Amino acid sequence: MKRPDSSGLAPGAVLGILGGGQLARMLALAAADLGVRAHIFAPEPDSPAYEVAARHTIGAYEDEAALATFADAVDVVTYEFENVPAATAAFLAARTPLHPGARALAVTQDRLSEKRFVSELGLAVAPFRPVDSLAELEQAVAALGRPSVLKTRRFGYDGKGQVKIGVDTDLAQAWEEIGHFPAILEGFVSFVREVSVVAARGLDGSFAAFDVCENEHRDHILALTSVPARLGTAAAATAIDAARRIGEALGYVGVFAVEFFLVETSSGEQVVVNEIAPRVHNSGHWTSEGAQTSQFHQHIRAVCGFPLGATTRRGHVTMENLIGDRVHDWRAILAEPNAHLHLYGKHEARPGRKMGHVTRISPAVD
Ligand code: AMP
Repeated sequence: MKRPDSSGLAPGAVLGILGGGQLARMLALAAADLGVRAHIFAPEPDSPAYEVAARHTIGAYEDEAALATFADAVDVVTYEFENVPAATAAFLAARTPLHPGARALAVTQDRLSEKRFVSELGLAVAPFRPVDSLAELEQAVAALGRPSVLKTRRFGYDGKGQVKIGVDTDLAQAWEEIGHFPAILEGFVSFVREVSVVAARGLDGSFAAFDVCENEHRDHILALTSVPARLGTAAAATAIDAARRIGEALGYVGVFAVEFFLVETSSGEQVVVNEIAPRVHNSGHWTSEGAQTSQFHQHIRAVCGFPLGATTRRGHVTMENLIGDRVHDWRAILAEPNAHLHLYGKHEARPGRKMGHVTRISPAVD
């Protein structure tokens, strides 16, 4: 009989991971470091994680027979993406510990429930209105003004499912572009930069955050992360405290990221929560070489009920995503004495596709 949580697990345990992309690949590698065997479950016939995991099962997330066999074969289940269907999460959670839990998924899968959850915690978010029709979009734009941003409530990532409402934007066309899906309108936040906190909460409620990092996006895709972020100590402490409160309120177990807009106001810096990711996050990739414990090892520790590791940073760190053709520069990157190259084993370098990343550390002490 399995325990209802993952307490008491030890090296030798089997960790099930839903999803087979680069995040699952790096989780599987970290699991192996800790003597934990990764078993990937994903629908794709070929995925970056398969070649580094102890086992993989190719199956649809709706295939209950395959899910039941998978659940029997693992000691705990986690996932690399937030769009795990609610029914899949519930089915697995009834059979084996699931971390992070179903509540974290339910809140973060829907931008409206996420915004409500965050603002109910008393944390700053962009002003927002639910939008389910063109008439509601017109009312929301009248209330929040232009510019503003229309986003689908579900399945948005890397700027997909988003339309900026500028001074001249035709609202009927914007509503068309968003596909008439349930959406929210957000007031535009004039931020000076975007920062994020990658943090972990253990099975025992312990909390550990990495240093706040600064993120630069190009074409809505993360291009560069730099740590430390350029923000004051008070704003950094506020951001980390926001992450701690979010983790506690969700009863969270595992690594998560909170993305913020940094705003400069007459009364100083303010951090505004943009988004919560209930998983390891691209803006935490720098931790693999840049921190005492990587976010991937930290996630394995958390979901297996092991003690969390130290998050101490090892210098000034940058993480560059290798997107599309940039991956072809791998040879030059390998020649850099200070660079740590990670390739995801994807066969085709399509534009906008994350093919790998490189971390660079200069050991200067701040
Ligand atoms: P998201 O998918 O919500 O993370 O949005 C992708 C990117 O769009 C963000 O990283 C910002 O650069 C920009 N963005 C999203 N929402 C807003 C907003 N309310 N105000 C200003 N910029 C935004």
